[in-house]
Order: sequence, then C-alpha cells, then structure tokens
Amino acid sequence: MTFDRLWDDLAAVGREKSTGGYRRYAWTPADAALREWFAGQAAARGLGLVVDRAGNQWAWWGDPDASGPGVVIGSHLDSVPDGGAFDGPLGVVSALLAVDALRAAGVAPSRPVGVVHFGDEEGARFGVACAGSRMVTGALARDRALGLRDGDGTSMGEAMAAAGHDTAHTGRDSETLRRIGCFVELHVEQGRGLAGLSRPVGVGTGIWPHGRWRMEFAGQANHAGTTRLEDRRDPMLDYAAAVLRARELAEKHGVLATCGKVTVEPNGVNAIPSRVRGWLDARGADAGAVRALVAELSAGRDVSEESWTPATPFDTGLSDRCAAVLGDAPRLASGAGHDAGVLAQAGIPAAMLFVRNPTGVSHSPAEFAERDDCLRGVDALTAVVTDLVAGRTA
Ligand SMILES: [Zn+2]
Repeated sequence: MTFDRLWDDLAAVGREKSTGGYRRYAWTPADAALREWFAGQAAARGLGLVVDRAGNQWAWWGDPDASGPGVVIGSHLDSVPDGGAFDGPLGVVSALLAVDALRAAGVAPSRPVGVVHFGDEEGARFGVACAGSRMVTGALARDRALGLRDGDGTSMGEAMAAAGHDTAHTGRDSETLRRIGCFVELHVEQGRGLAGLSRPVGVGTGIWPHGRWRMEFAGQANHAGTTRLEDRRDPMLDYAAAVLRARELAEKHGVLATCGKVTVEPNGVNAIPSRVRGWLDARGADAGAVRALVAELSAGRDVSEESWTPATPFDTGLSDRCAAVLGDAPRLASGAGHDAGVLAQAGIPAAMLFVRNPTGVSHSPAEFAERDDCLRGVDALTAVVTDLVAGRTA
C-alpha cells in the first residue's frame, strides 16, 4: 500500500467544500468514517484492533500482552475547524506504512508494534485538547469528560453513545497503558524550525510551558451617540491597551503572547461596553520568561490564571536514540501540545519526529508538506522502529 493511496483515501473525509479545510470533530459522522478507515487498515494488515476505554483505536502487530510492552507509533485523525490535511493524519499514515516497510524488509520484531489512532486530539468539539490521550491516562477524569458539552449542548457522553461507543467503562485504562513501552509520534511541523535546513525530519525535545489567563475590564455602559468622550468609562480601551502591551512584552521576553478570544457586554454596536473579558495565551521555551510577561502585564490589571502546563520534556534516552538513528537529526521544541506530551506527563517514554513544513502554516487549509518530505518521514519512522524492535535493551 503506497503513501499516495492512503493519502487519497483520507482526502475527502470531513472536507468542507467551501473552504477546502477539514472539519473532523470527535464522535461525528466524519469521525466514524475515520475510525472505520483505521479499522479497515488494521484488518487489511492482519493487525489486532483494540478500542480502549477512552475510545482510542490500537492496531497491534504481535500480542501486546505476551511479549510487551510494545513500541507504539501513530497520532490523531481529527482536526480543528477548517484544519489542514497533515496535522494528525500524517502520523497515522506514516505509522501504517512503517509497519508495511518493516514487514517488507523481513523484520521480525522482538516486541509488539502498535499503531494508535488517538481520538479528539484537537478538542474542537468539546473544548479539551488531547481528550483521548488525557482520558486514557487519567489526566482527564471520566465524569468531567463525559459531562463536557459542545456548542449545541450535547455532552461527550451522549455523543459517544450516539456514535455507538459504550460509555459504561469509559475512563482511565491501565491495561492499555501497561502495553505501551514507548511512544513515537510523527507529526507535521507547525512552525518553520526545519524550513531553512537541509534536513526534512527533526526530533522533538519537548513541549513548551504554556498557560491561559483571563483579563477582566470593567466600565460603564452608555450611549454611543450622547456620551462625550471625556465622560466615558470605556473598558474596550483598557483591553486594547492590554493587547498591545502583551505584544510588546512578548518581544521583550522572547516568548509568544496571543489574545484570540474576547467577550463584550452588552455587545452592542451603539453601546459603550460595561465589561470586556479577554483571554491571553502565553508560551515560550523559558517558563520564567512566560511568567515575567504575565507578571508585568498583570500590574494594575485584573488578570487570573486559568491553566498552566509546565514544560514537558520528551524522554531523553528515546529522543537521543531517534536522533542517532536518523544521523544526528536536528532537534526542535514544540510550541503546540500533542498526545506524545500527554503520555510523557503520564510517565511513558515518548518522543516525536517532525516533518518539515515549508511555510510553517498549520491549523489552516493551507497547511502543507512536500510529498518527498513525507516519504522521508516514513523512512525515518521505519528506521526508528526497526532500531527499537531489533533488540530489547531494557
Ligand atoms: Zn496534531
């Protein structure tokens, strides 16, 4: 089975004609089609398909209980609203092709090899990213997960049941976790770290520390046509100043700051707002620098922390091994979250391979990677797995 064939299979699933982007959300018909596709790929290869308690699919080559724990590769298939074709699917397609390549080369693995399709990685429907991996590791509790609601008020539990997934045992799945000796996720790069290099595949060092903060600005609602400028208490101006200040501080501290969500009351064109609430996403290589930005931005403002995730380093031994197998591959940190990060936080040795993205654009229909680079990614993943299953060192 070739890369082009698998890529073509997926091309139409969940694609929005008007934008050319993908809308593959958890527990929808598009998601069901992706799950059916994955199951078909497992069956075509004679791999043993297991659906875990969080709804993730695992295709095993070899008995994961008899000679494990296994080497697991794979990624996700869902998307953000109008996402690109590569974010997620490239890792799953590459993993299936790596299994094919190992078999074609006559490799007899010393331990089982698993291909995983993590569900609901983007959190586009229920608002929690990496929901599938967080649920299986227990980082996302069963009750909270099942109670999450989408924009229409449908809970995740209802959506799972409607999609034919039994939720009676949904939650952390220690049996599944026990089967994972290590996890290597291949992913399209979502920045331009490799774009200027002659190497199409890099090895991840870890995921940046990142957080979300809520900023509150209070004012006084009043008439847009009758209130003199000097009489106004307009919180939109304070919010605007905070957005500009966040940008200035991001440059000063060498980190990233994004104000991408805002709510306004009463939200009328002809009304001075009474209240503005804005959110800040801040992240960077250095946690101290991110903290410094938030501290300076908070001076004289009402800013409260909604979430903070410390830096997640990938397993050093495993990452070094990947880089060595790939001939001293370039290393790069990820500013985006991934299932590999969730597994790493759960104590599972995890590593990532990134495939060059010439523009760095991601979460967009314009997301792209050269076909040759994708094929080199498959080769890289194949080489890594070949090394990991050749002999058991631990
Ligand atoms: Zn992704």
